[in-house]
Amino acid sequence: MSYTANVVRERGRYGPYGGRYVPETLMAPLEELERVYAEARADRGFQAELDSLLHNFAGRPTPLQFASRLTEHLGGARIYLKREDLLHTGAHKINNCLGQGLLAVRMGKKRVIAETGAGQHGVATATVAARLGLTCTVYMGTEDMERQRLNVNRMRLLGAEVIGVDAGSKTLKDAINEAMRDWVTNVRTSHYLLGSVLGAHPYPMIVRDFQKIIGEEAREQIQRAEKRLPDHLFACVGGGSNAIGLFHAFLGDSSVKMVGVEAGGRGKSLGEHAARLAAAEGFVGARPGVLQGTYTFVLQSANGQIATTHSVSAGLDYAAVGPEHAWLAEQGRAEYTAVMDDEAIAAAKMLARTEGIIPALESAHAVAELARRAPKMKKDEIVILNVSGRGDKDMETLSRYV
Ligand SMILES: *Cc1c(COP(=O)(O)O)cnc(C)c1O
Repeated sequence: MSYTANVVRERGRYGPYGGRYVPETLMAPLEELERVYAEARADRGFQAELDSLLHNFAGRPTPLQFASRLTEHLGGARIYLKREDLLHTGAHKINNCLGQGLLAVRMGKKRVIAETGAGQHGVATATVAARLGLTCTVYMGTEDMERQRLNVNRMRLLGAEVIGVDAGSKTLKDAINEAMRDWVTNVRTSHYLLGSVLGAHPYPMIVRDFQKIIGEEAREQIQRAEKRLPDHLFACVGGGSNAIGLFHAFLGDSSVKMVGVEAGGRGKSLGEHAARLAAAEGFVGARPGVLQGTYTFVLQSANGQIATTHSVSAGLDYAAVGPEHAWLAEQGRAEYTAVMDDEAIAAAKMLARTEGIIPALESAHAVAELARRAPKMKKDEIVILNVSGRGDKDMETLSRYV
């Protein structure tokens, strides 16, 4: 993104990260969103409506399943799986889409705009728009549309308009630019429904708040099952919404260690991976910078050009990471590591065969890191791993390896 004016200090900062780096025209709608969200948060009616949709439409609460066969297979800690893969549309993304959809209704906006890479966020947004009676426009790179025909058809069946973006690399970051252009032109009638803990304040806060139910449920569920808190949390990190969703309720519990797992792709040089915070493992190219309205760790060339990224899982394949994760990493409160494509594939196979769960390739990255560490843990240690989504969407990729 080339938008770099107007810094709002303190509000929306995670240490030095976060903030609001946007053109003048977007200051007013971001302030409106911030104000309406603050009102909604204090309104019991809003919360009750969201709770009802999460329960009856999306399928919350999701189970916290003791993975007995995986535990035995890895031979270390007791492993629990938070089953976000069981939600409507197959991943955690619906939690955030429902929350923001209701905010759009509250602001009197009858249209939502979204960008999508592989199509998962687009499908979740189109689903919620249909349920709430909003019109929906989704921007998607033409290269991605080609690769994700099925999701394009899903969105269209749900009544969304899918606009192909033919500029640049014809992928996610070009789709984001077009979606932003649309929003600037139509701010009065349209809400930009951002899919992860990215973008200008208040988005990283709002998306985190709509995802933190994952950890709130898991915290209660593990205390019921084990009469104590877990020792380790594992989640994959694309933008970072499912990870912060799991971590947030445990941030005050210093005994709970947290591991975020990024995409190591197929190598450590720039362009081969999407590891923004795992630099200690030798992944090259991440430095603080501004992308999509927020100051955070961004994969970039020596002269500040946004780098291309690679991952076998589309949901982790992005140059920037949520600013709150950059801050958690800097403070050492959470640890970030990266897993290679082939390790994620192997982990998906392992989870399928030990537990009867085919995970999304994103989630499989977290499983792979767990597989490295669990055997070295004590048998009375407790792990919670977030299965952020199901693997149906990845069957074409997975089929090449069976
Ligand atoms: C989109 C997606 C992710 C990555 O997004 P986060 O914001 O990092 O959670 C992870 N898992 C699944 C299944 C996804 O669809």
